[in-house]
Amino acid sequence: MDKYDIVIGLEVHIQLNTNTKIFCNCSTKFGDEPNTNVCPVCTAMPGVLPVLNKKVVDYAIKVGLGLNCSINKLSVFSRKQYFYPDLPKNYQISQYDKPICENGYINLSNGKKIGITRAHIEEDAGKLIHLAGDESLVDYNRTGVPLIEIVSEPDITSPSESYDYLVRLKQLIKYLGVSDCNMEEGSLRCDANISIKPRGSRLFGTKTEIKNLNSFKAVEKSLEYEINRHIEVIEEGNKIIQETRLWDDKKGITVSMRSKEEANDYRYFPEPDLRNLVLDDEWIENIKKDMPLLPDERLKILMEDYDLSNYDANVLILEKSLVEYFEEIVGCILDLDENLDKKTVSKQVSNWLSVELLGKLNKDNKKIEDNKISAKDFAKLIFLLNNNTISGKIGKIVFEEMYNSCKSPDEIIKEKNLVQITDSKEIEKFVLEVLDNNPKSVSDYKAGKVKIIGFLVGQIMQKTKGKANPSLVNQLLKAKLDAK
Ligand code: ADP
Ligand code: ZN
Ligand code: MG
Repeated sequence: MDKYDIVIGLEVHIQLNTNTKIFCNCSTKFGDEPNTNVCPVCTAMPGVLPVLNKKVVDYAIKVGLGLNCSINKLSVFSRKQYFYPDLPKNYQISQYDKPICENGYINLSNGKKIGITRAHIEEDAGKLIHLAGDESLVDYNRTGVPLIEIVSEPDITSPSESYDYLVRLKQLIKYLGVSDCNMEEGSLRCDANISIKPRGSRLFGTKTEIKNLNSFKAVEKSLEYEINRHIEVIEEGNKIIQETRLWDDKKGITVSMRSKEEANDYRYFPEPDLRNLVLDDEWIENIKKDMPLLPDERLKILMEDYDLSNYDANVLILEKSLVEYFEEIVGCILDLDENLDKKTVSKQVSNWLSVELLGKLNKDNKKIEDNKISAKDFAKLIFLLNNNTISGKIGKIVFEEMYNSCKSPDEIIKEKNLVQITDSKEIEKFVLEVLDNNPKSVSDYKAGKVKIIGFLVGQIMQKTKGKANPSLVNQLLKAKLDAK
């Protein structure tokens, strides 16, 4: 392994979530009855002409800006010819030598920059459904759905970096709001290119391209497999041939699909039915004004304004809705009591979200959007913990109930009678009762086994159903024991 450098470049197709297709008014909705969202344009009837959807251009500029690309004021649509049943025109309208976005980068979690060669606009093809036997069906609902293809520089040097690249890219695209990046529905598709070369060599080795990758984990695993295959082939004195390979997720192997086409096989030429795409400064400026805060900027704010650690901040920026939720909750708590320290509150909210909420959602296999607790209610829960209305232990019970029933913490606490017991007289009764019932523990304590105090606290908490204020319990218990 140490003898070789690994070289990886990823090509990612992202379906833009416009309402209508790129060159006609058909709906882009996923999951409709096959061949119902079609018209003469997207099924390529003779004599039809494409009309470019402006929103697609807006979105492409957004993506380009998000990826730190230069936005080309002049870009050109080209025909990419190939013959396949899912492509009724026999060519795909794409961008070739003059794409809309070029020369950008994206930061990995560890700060490493991965170059973005280009991001261009193109139309999607239809979908083939292969039946048992040798019959296939074709659904043209997807033909003409707008895509943006994002091509990375061969800057990625390991399968795990590829995984991180995809996580970061998806995160960015979701922040931009231009796609849901749902891999199961095909709105994010990735092809991985890989080669190896002797360590330190400046010449790249022959690459293979892996297709049919339906999860980020599959990208990582297939690359691991393919790297080992490259090494084996080369160590045996043979040569890697440039080809496209398919990932078989069940068997965990790649298999040869076809030798890779060269660009000249596609016979690219400028699309005569569309004009060059010309952007002016005003268009680009308007999109710039409309850009949301992006993950890197959010991270900076969380670390600087909220004093969170890099680790905590990175967890919260995973999803835009999570970081917005976090900020809202902190805001609500500070509204409830402006004397609270923002840093302390932030750390507390961050813990609750990353440990309790994300833990629960993960366990239930749910998304952040599935969480129905309002920021206000979440804030109230933490506020009630801080002012000792409820104990930490009860807090978790209330949280569970909020998560399941969407009731407000006040309602739950009242309903279940969960208010913390902070009356010393009342707690003292429980302390005495437990001491009476556990003479052995008392004598152990007196004999120097001070650790036994933990057991006694547990007994008292049990008697109060977790409602006693723990520090009062400790204080009173110690006093009683020492007085014995
Ligand atoms: P092709 O013409 O075969 O599609 P491109 O030059 O367009 O090749 O590159 C496609 C992707 O492959 C890009 O992401 C690029 O970074 C990556 N790539 C190019 N050369 C190599 C290589 N030798 N090893 C690994 N990846 C590579
Ligand atoms: Zn159509
Ligand atoms: Mg290419």
